[in-house]
Amino acid sequence: MSGRTHARACPERTCVGCRERAAKTDLLRIVEVEGACVPDPRGTLPGRGAYVHPASLCLDLAVRRRALSRAFKVKEPLDSEAVRQHVEQAAP
Ligand SMILES: [Zn+2]
Repeated sequence: MSGRTHARACPERTCVGCRERAAKTDLLRIVEVEGACVPDPRGTLPGRGAYVHPASLCLDLAVRRRALSRAFKVKEPLDSEAVRQHVEQAAP
């Protein structure tokens, strides 16, 4: 008897850019790997994750507020180029 099959209908996360809550599935998970932010669209990478709307507006906000550094508890600004590329490719 494990509780593993309990699926939450709609887990929510807060976008680190606009600070609005949204369904986890509507947000892009970001993880920090060696001083850089890496997009994790499938949510499979280990470690602490931050969530942002897959939109350059929200990513810009997150970068300007250093929200990603704060989310990952690092002092230096993180390289978010890989996330930006992912977001721009995903945009219509
Ligand atoms: Zn947002």
